[in-house]
Amino acid sequence: MSDFELTKKLINEVEFFIVNFPSHIENVYNTMTRSVKYELVIAGLNNLKKLSFLNRVRIFHIITKRNYIYLGEFVDWINKNYKGIFLLNFCYVRNKGRVKNNKNILPKYSETSKFIKLALAKSKLYGIKAVIQNIPLCVIDGFEGFSFEFHRFKRGDHVFERGVELPLNIEKCKQCSLKVGCCGARKDYICVYGDKELKTSKKDINSIREERF
Ligand code: SF4
Repeated sequence: MSDFELTKKLINEVEFFIVNFPSHIENVYNTMTRSVKYELVIAGLNNLKKLSFLNRVRIFHIITKRNYIYLGEFVDWINKNYKGIFLLNFCYVRNKGRVKNNKNILPKYSETSKFIKLALAKSKLYGIKAVIQNIPLCVIDGFEGFSFEFHRFKRGDHVFERGVELPLNIEKCKQCSLKVGCCGARKDYICVYGDKELKTSKKDINSIREERF
């Protein structure tokens, strides 16, 4: 994508671009990706912008301990530079692969919640379509309509994409009114932080509106 001529050719063949972009701050990006490709990604996004192809770009933004405090700022930055993107796909980091129960990578729901809500609120304010994946609905109370899994439930799809591990069947979730549209108690998270932050809801799931833009 950083090569303009190549990108120009590619846009005739590709329907969508998925860009893994965990930070607009270069040193955070480099730490999270263990690479120095920040400038190349920016060049790629600029090429797509020049070619008026941003409306076919989905930015995938993994939330970890290293970037969650910048979530609101990240949305401001996207709005300023790449407002026309198709989708901002936030995803709570899974405790898999190189995360290995590391609390310096895997943040607690309770510390990230207000930053996530801020980012979602800003996305809506700016008219940037956004979803958040892999986070229990009780953690984003009031913002459930942005949940990727909730959208799948509303569409009538299976809540979990193929290959995604099913949640733990804990008592709090068994009694929860939101269970059918929620990613639930994630085993990989619970094994590090337990289930204290999860809260059984009595909210009517049909009263929750999917966020549309
Ligand atoms: S209690 Fe369980 S089912 Fe209910 S919202 Fe929280 S994680 Fe989802």
